[in-house]
Amino acid sequence: MTAQYDAIVIGAGAAGLMCAIAAGQRGLRVLVVDHANKVGKKILMSGGGRCNFTNTGATPANYLSANPHFCKSALARYTPAHFIELVERHRIAYHEKELGQLFCDESSKQVVKLLLDECAAANVEVRTHCSIEAVLHVDNGEFRLRTTQGAFSAPALVVASGGLSIPSMGASGFGYQLAKQFGHEVLPTRAGLVPLTLTGKHAERLHDLAGVSLPVEARCNDVIFRNFMLVTHRGISGPSILQISNFWQPGDDLRLDLLPGIDIDALLQEWQRERRDAELKTLLGEVMPKRFAQRLCEHWIANKPLRQYNAPELRGIAGLLSSWPLIASGTEGYRTAEVTLGGVDTDGLSSSTMMSRHVPGLYFIGEVVDVTGWLGGYNFQWAWASGHAAGLALASA
Ligand code: FAD
Repeated sequence: MTAQYDAIVIGAGAAGLMCAIAAGQRGLRVLVVDHANKVGKKILMSGGGRCNFTNTGATPANYLSANPHFCKSALARYTPAHFIELVERHRIAYHEKELGQLFCDESSKQVVKLLLDECAAANVEVRTHCSIEAVLHVDNGEFRLRTTQGAFSAPALVVASGGLSIPSMGASGFGYQLAKQFGHEVLPTRAGLVPLTLTGKHAERLHDLAGVSLPVEARCNDVIFRNFMLVTHRGISGPSILQISNFWQPGDDLRLDLLPGIDIDALLQEWQRERRDAELKTLLGEVMPKRFAQRLCEHWIANKPLRQYNAPELRGIAGLLSSWPLIASGTEGYRTAEVTLGGVDTDGLSSSTMMSRHVPGLYFIGEVVDVTGWLGGYNFQWAWASGHAAGLALASA
């Protein structure tokens, strides 16, 4: 027997649950299926367990997509203020960490509970451990799912199965497969918001500094992010590097300003005037982590007392410190990436409803779509906004 619904959502993550809530609240009978053993696993692990659930400054400029205009409509109609209102209604305490990033004071579990409570209030049925064996589009326009928990059918199908990052958390390429099955283009995918790896002399010279962190300004392809960098055993990470990883591809020039916000020329000249006998590594150790300064002066800069440098040498040192070239060999890949860049081509979707332009009743939302946010709550905001847009569209179809 095939159980009948008004809409079936594949994926009980941020986008799928938000879509189901919006549609369920408007009287639709909605089923959400997920192959994982529990819902919202990425929400649970997000923001170091405290879920950076939105960013108060989110604008379309914070997203990457082949069509940068696509995200505008959904983001304008479901804003950070809407999700904050929901969080406050559920009495979840939160705080701003930095740069508009809102985190739960206590735990990401509260956001999952909020979503499940809203689902229950909207009579949404959520099935976990439910693997999909086939998706058919039958003659009457219905979508029929054959799953390990039986057959389900609905006139609308929402694909909210996320991207490829963190396969151990249930990520799969299923959404891309379905998109292709229904004639959609899938743009090349790659790991985003991901640590970069180093090889060769950079790796040899830095790997034992793993754990050292310092503020930098990372620059790549005319994009700049100022925040902390963390040296890891295999390369570099930290917010500035995760951010720039979205814009970096193998072979691209990556430069770091190791003393962001400091006029390095002026500082070196001041040191030469006032601290003539001090060695450069000692002075650099006052404005950046000592071990990092020491390593720079072992391998990249000749260390001597300040009085011994001539003017061209000082200019060279300033140039190196403000634009340190780092040759990344790759990324840590989907194993640790927070997001997947690329995905279902937005050309095939309506930006106001998220519905397919090829197959009426078929929707794609969240990370499976070629819309990727910066680090800092932007990706959840896209999940909420695109999910909400599709939920409203389902109810008015
Ligand atoms: P997902 O949350 O990935 O949900 C997809 C769901 O589909 C999953 O439950 C999965 O089990 C299910 N699924 C997949 N394949 C199938 C299948 N074949 N059959 C059935 N079900 C399937 N973003 C932020 O904005 N703030 C943060 O603090 C933040 N922290 C993060 C930390 C980590 C470690 C990671 C990995 C990501 C983080 N992100 C953060 C990104 C954010 O988690 C994602 O952008 C967001 O979860 C995407 O939502 P989604 O609903 O589209 O996909």
